[in-house]
Amino acid sequence: MRMSSLFLRTLREDPADAELPGHKLLVRAGYIRRAAPGIYTWLPLGLKVLRKVEGIVREEMDAIGAQELTFPALLPKEPYEATGRWTEYGDNLFRLTDRKNADMLLGPTHEEMFTLAVKEFYTSYKELPLALYQIQTKYRDEARPRAGVLRGREFIMKDSYSFDIDAAGLQKSYDLHRQAYVKIFDRFGFEYVIVQADSGAMGGSASEEFLAVNDGGEDTFVSDGQGYAANVEAVEVPQAPPVEVTAGPAHVEDTPNTPTIETLVAALNADHPRADGREWTAADTLKNVVVMLAYPDGTREPLAIGLPGDREVDPKRLEVKVAPAEVAPFDESDFAKHPSLAKGYIGPGVLGEKKASGIRYLLDPSVAEGSAWVTGADEHGKHVIDLVYGRDFTADGTIQAAEIREGDLGPSGAGLTLRRGVEMGHIFQLGTKYAEALGLKVLDEHGKLVTVTMGSYGIGITRAVGVIAEDNHDELGLIWPREVAPFDVHLVAAGKGEDLFVAAGELAAQLEAAGLDVLYDDRAGKVSPGVKFKDSELLGVPTIVIIGKALADGLIEIKDRRSGERRSVPVADAVREIVAEVGGDRSA
Ligand code: ATP
Ligand code: MG
Repeated sequence: MRMSSLFLRTLREDPADAELPGHKLLVRAGYIRRAAPGIYTWLPLGLKVLRKVEGIVREEMDAIGAQELTFPALLPKEPYEATGRWTEYGDNLFRLTDRKNADMLLGPTHEEMFTLAVKEFYTSYKELPLALYQIQTKYRDEARPRAGVLRGREFIMKDSYSFDIDAAGLQKSYDLHRQAYVKIFDRFGFEYVIVQADSGAMGGSASEEFLAVNDGGEDTFVSDGQGYAANVEAVEVPQAPPVEVTAGPAHVEDTPNTPTIETLVAALNADHPRADGREWTAADTLKNVVVMLAYPDGTREPLAIGLPGDREVDPKRLEVKVAPAEVAPFDESDFAKHPSLAKGYIGPGVLGEKKASGIRYLLDPSVAEGSAWVTGADEHGKHVIDLVYGRDFTADGTIQAAEIREGDLGPSGAGLTLRRGVEMGHIFQLGTKYAEALGLKVLDEHGKLVTVTMGSYGIGITRAVGVIAEDNHDELGLIWPREVAPFDVHLVAAGKGEDLFVAAGELAAQLEAAGLDVLYDDRAGKVSPGVKFKDSELLGVPTIVIIGKALADGLIEIKDRRSGERRSVPVADAVREIVAEVGGDRSA
């Protein structure tokens, strides 16, 4: 490929809508271009990287015996209605109608289509196990498209599905996929972790995510240094064991103008000092947060969460616990409908299904039976002190929705560390949810009809390109890992004179004959060597070869984009040296 004819314009300025460095560079270096929010055009250079990423995934999927096919993106409503996802997907689903007024959708993921395809073809356990996959464009009307191709509204996913006759088979298929994913992610060239995941709206059981470790990521994961790692959404903190009741009887006190935890703690210390001399802290208070759950079918249900006053509800943890409902604020009109709730002074006295408000009340697992709290007395300006859980109040259950903090104890009792990441892959054991909803059954060895059990496995292909860029760059530009680089070699003719361009053209031809993919910067005239070097740094091809002044002494220069190291080699050895540098002859 000659730079003079490559369809490319590099930009000097960062795009206005980009925050993350990799996103900025992908746009500036002419790999992608925004067409609309969350919707990107893949320019020639970007498409080459994208195809390489796809190629890695395809190779490893094929290696475990999965078979590739492609379903349409434009789909009929019926299968998604049968599984409930036509409504469950909510606003994230792109819905449309055709000219005959039939409802259609743009597929956000394809469990339904795969399940139905297998149902049409297969009838016997003898045909299983089966693994199918596609690398295909998905549509989700994300509320917050972000960071370029990291969270798009149109994006490419590899999704695969396994079909087995029983749980043991599913476990085998899952393990095979997991191994393939490890190989894929090792080849991608970014740091990643495998964490336990919440299986969310998809239903099912065992579920793990492959997260790219990245401070700019939207996911938070924990690890305990002893082999436990989980997405923060999936962390189950241990239930605090019961404690002996030491508090005296509960008593209601006047606490005027204390609708927040901060004002309450100050008033407690000023007006109601503790008998033991210790100061009151936010951790002594129990706050009761009321939210509104909005279900896909339009129904709404209030939910109250009781948690220590020094913690917040983590919106993401709450979201996965109440899915498919969405969480909406409990607003003034909702308060008007629930007069027993004293805003700012809500206590467990009125919460719970059998109590005055009739609102379901769930407690954070850190609230131990027998522990005493300061909490709302359900009257404006009043709180109750020494209200003991189990003795003075009850709840309808627990909910794992409070924020997780650095040092919190995890399931094995060890302290947790928190880091951020980007979800790159998700594997999980769906079980029979889709097969049941769509009637995918086969005959077992006794001639009995059994429901097929499924696994579902995704990788964000376009997102992977974004993450590779986030993880592989410096202030000058991108630095592609060799396996996904758009070219093997970026050859720069840096100077004037016909001889130099003839020599460079010849070298490019020889390298191509050795099977290397060469980007040859043959631009003559006004394009200075300085501009060419800058472009080579911005584009990020891992090996840069410079033919310049030293050619007069029979030398060319080979530069490693990542380390910046340069070395001169004789023209006569150039092909051999460059081929060795990029990892061998590819012409075979
Ligand atoms: P997220 O929590 O980031 O929204 P998800 O849980 O919705 O992801 P899955 O439904 O498990 O994602 O999809 C499988 C894979 O597809 C994800 O692991 C991710 O790599 C990719 N993916 C999902 N949504 C997007 C998106 N909007 N843009 C790009 N890639 C995406
Ligand atoms: Mg997921």
